[in-house]
Amino acid sequence: MQFVLISSCLLGSPVRYNGQHKRSGSEVLQRWLAEGRVVAVCPEVAGGLPVPRPPAEIAAGAGGAAVLSSQAKVIDPHVNDVSAEFIAGARNALEQAQAKGIRIAVLKEGSPSCGSGYIYDGTFSGTKVHGQGVAAALLLGAGIRVFSEEQFDEANEFLLSLEAGSAA
Ligand code: SF4
Repeated sequence: MQFVLISSCLLGSPVRYNGQHKRSGSEVLQRWLAEGRVVAVCPEVAGGLPVPRPPAEIAAGAGGAAVLSSQAKVIDPHVNDVSAEFIAGARNALEQAQAKGIRIAVLKEGSPSCGSGYIYDGTFSGTKVHGQGVAAALLLGAGIRVFSEEQFDEANEFLLSLEAGSAA
C-alpha cells in the first residue's frame, strides 16, 4: 500500500503559526485516513518551532530551493532568521517520507514550508508569488510528487496509477 504524506494542519491539528488548523473536508482524505495510509507531518514544528509562533516568509519570495542552498533566508516580521528550523523540519519530513517509501505528499498551499504552487513574497503584505516552500522543495527534489489541498483528486489519480504500476 502506498502511504501519503499530509500536512498536519490539514488533518485538524492546531499547529499553524497562529495556533489554528486548516482541516480539509476532502472525501479523498477521509478515505485515505480510513485506509490507514496517511502520515502526518508539520515541518515547522518538527524543526523545533513553537505553537504559536510569528508568521514567516521566504525573503524576496525566493523559494524553498534557494533556502536549502543557503541563497535565501526564511524570516519573521522582525527579520529574525528561522532558516535553520525550516531546513531541519524539511529534512525531518523527507526522512519520514523515505522511511515509508512515500511518493506522494499533499501539503498546505501558500506556506513557507508546505506551499507547492505559491508562497508569499517576503514583505508580509499578503502578496503571492509562484514557488515552493522549503519542505515542498526538498520533497520535490527527492522525486516525491507534491500536491496542494486543492488537488486531492489529482493526488488520488496519481496514487491509483502508482498502485496500478503505471506511474513512472
Ligand atoms: Fe501546516 Fe505545513 Fe505550516 Fe505545519 S508547516 S502548520 S503542516 S502548513
